[in-house]
Amino acid sequence: MKVPYVDFSGQYAAERPRLLGILDRVMSRGEYIMGPEVEDFERRFARLCGVGHAVGVANATDALTLALKALGVGPGDEVITAPNSFIASAGAIAQAGATPVFVDVKADQLMDPAKLEGALTRRTKAVLPVHLTGKICDMEAILRFARRRGLKVVEDAAQAVGARRGGRPAGSFGDAACFSFHPLKNLNAAGDAGAIVTGDAALAAKLRLLRNHGLVSRNEVSFWGYNSRLDTLQAAILGFRLKGLSAVTAKRRRNAAVYRKGLAGVVECPSDEEGCRDAYHLFVIQADRRDALRDFLKKKGISTAVHYPTPIHLQPSARSLGGKAGDFPETERQSKRILSLPVHQYLTPRQLGHVIGSIREFYR
Ligand SMILES: *Cc1c(COP(=O)(O)O)cnc(C)c1O
Repeated sequence: MKVPYVDFSGQYAAERPRLLGILDRVMSRGEYIMGPEVEDFERRFARLCGVGHAVGVANATDALTLALKALGVGPGDEVITAPNSFIASAGAIAQAGATPVFVDVKADQLMDPAKLEGALTRRTKAVLPVHLTGKICDMEAILRFARRRGLKVVEDAAQAVGARRGGRPAGSFGDAACFSFHPLKNLNAAGDAGAIVTGDAALAAKLRLLRNHGLVSRNEVSFWGYNSRLDTLQAAILGFRLKGLSAVTAKRRRNAAVYRKGLAGVVECPSDEEGCRDAYHLFVIQADRRDALRDFLKKKGISTAVHYPTPIHLQPSARSLGGKAGDFPETERQSKRILSLPVHQYLTPRQLGHVIGSIREFYR
C-alpha cells in the first residue's frame, strides 16, 4: 500500500470543476494583477484571523521581510527567533537587514519564553515566534516579555492557518502575522502565495504600498518598495479553498487523534495543550533510531519527511552569526529524532492503519 506524504492529484480530482471555473472566470476577464478576488480574499482571510486587515503578498518569506521592514526593523537591529524552523524565518530577518538571534525550544518544538531574557541585548528590536507544525507558541508569555521591553512581535504563522489558542486564532496575537499559501501548506495556492495580517490600519496601509513598489498612484512613489503582490488567480483559488479550510483542519485533527491512539507507548506524539486547537500542518513524532525507521517506512510504501534535519544556526548561511553545535541542545537533540508522518486530508483509515502498524512492527 502506498501512503504519499501529500496528495495533489487527489486534491485536483476533488476540486477540478470548481478550479476550471475559476480559471475561466479570471482569465476571460484578464485582470491578472490586483483583481477584485485579491481584496475579497484579504477581507475574508482577515476575518478568519480575527483581525482588521490582511495584505496579500507573493509568499510568506516576503510577508515576514515586509512586516519586519514596515515595523521599522533594519540594519543594526536584532530579532529573536527559533533555530528549528524552516530557513525562511531567519532568512527574512537577514533580508530585512537585521540579525537573527536564536533561543532554544521546548519539548513541543516551540520557542521557550524562559530563554528570551538571555537573548536580549540593546539591539533587540523584535521577537519572531514560529508556530511550528501548526501549534501556536506560548503567546501570553512571549507578549508579556515583548511588551515590557517595547519589542515588536511578528508571528511566523506559515504553518498555523486555522489554529487557535485560548479561543484566539493564529495571527491575532502579534503586531503582525505572516501566512504561507505554498502548495504544501494547509490552505494552499497553485503556486507561491502569502499574506500578512494585522490589527493596525496604518501598518496595513504601509504594507500595501511596500508590496507594490511604494506606488501611491500610477506614477507616484512614496518610498522604495518591492514587487510582492498576490496574483488574482491565486487569490481566487484561495478564496474558494478558504471555505473548505475548517473541514481540512478537522480531518487533519482526526488523523492526529488516530495516530496518537495507535502509537501510544511506542513513540512520542504531539498533542494539543489545554485550550488549544492545533492545525496539524505537520504531525511530528519524536523517535529513537529515526533514520532507520524512516527507511523501514519507505520500504512499506510510506513517505515521511524531516522538518528540519539541520538547525538554522548550523547552516552555512548562518556561519557569520557564530553559532556552533551545542548552542541549542533541545533543538539539536530533536533534529535527530523528529519525523513528520503523512497527515493530509485525503488519507484513508486503511492508510492510517498501515502507518501505525508499520511503526509498531519496527519497534517490536
Ligand atoms: C513555509 C514556511 C515559510 C515560508 O513560506 P513561503 O510561502 O514558502 O515563503 C516560512 N516559515 C515557515 C515556518 C514555513 O513553514
